[in-house]
Amino acid sequence: SNKFFVGGNWKCNGTKESITKLVSDLNDAKLEADVDVVVAPPFVYIDQVKNSLTDRIEIAAQNSWVGKGGAFTGEISVEQLKDIGCKWVVLGHSERRHVIGEDDQFIGKKAAYALSEGLGVIACIGEQLQEREAGKTFDVCFQQLKAYADAIPSWDNVVIAYEPVWAIGTGKVATPEQAQEVHAALRDWLKNNVSADVATKTRIIYGGSVNGSNCAELAKQEDIDGFLVGGASLKGPEFATIVNSVT
Ligand code: 13P
Repeated sequence: SNKFFVGGNWKCNGTKESITKLVSDLNDAKLEADVDVVVAPPFVYIDQVKNSLTDRIEIAAQNSWVGKGGAFTGEISVEQLKDIGCKWVVLGHSERRHVIGEDDQFIGKKAAYALSEGLGVIACIGEQLQEREAGKTFDVCFQQLKAYADAIPSWDNVVIAYEPVWAIGTGKVATPEQAQEVHAALRDWLKNNVSADVATKTRIIYGGSVNGSNCAELAKQEDIDGFLVGGASLKGPEFATIVNSVT
């Protein structure tokens, strides 16, 4: 199976003080060797984290501008992210899609640009509750996945994060069966629409109310290659438990 990948998405949380503590807890944590571990601090704290966090953990940004920098007030370019030591960027997160209004095409362009500059992309997708209830989970996820596929030339540096919107920040984690069903379908979609090789090798991680207690059962599922963790990634020891749930 694929190398486990666990990302901590800190979202718009933290202060210099709380992040100093979180970094110190992460530096003290014992992490399984065979897991890629990444954290995504808010932009303004990336430099602090880069300068204090162990190199064992890589750094992601939570967003990036769609092209080269310049006259784009309030945006952060991929080049700047690389300059301060980011290896990854989270794109297409549900909060950017549904709260901020980014669409499939814009997200696809961002992914293509970040990859072209050598950043890894954590490509998020996921259905909303009403879409699941209407039986549209696969349609929605495939459409979002297709938008990435249409935009990017290679999947080598991409991790797919399946995050059902109804599970994000709600405490309502998908059951291991629900998550596995979608992950298997996504892999099948990749096989049929990209290639068998990409389907096998691309990591598909789950996000949405993952915590130290529910991670082990999810991690056992055949097509779950890791996690994207929100709330529980703000606690160093609990995040370490999730990293170490690798099977
Ligand atoms: P929670 O783990 O807080 O539900 O957030 C998940 C998420 O959105 C990670 O990107």
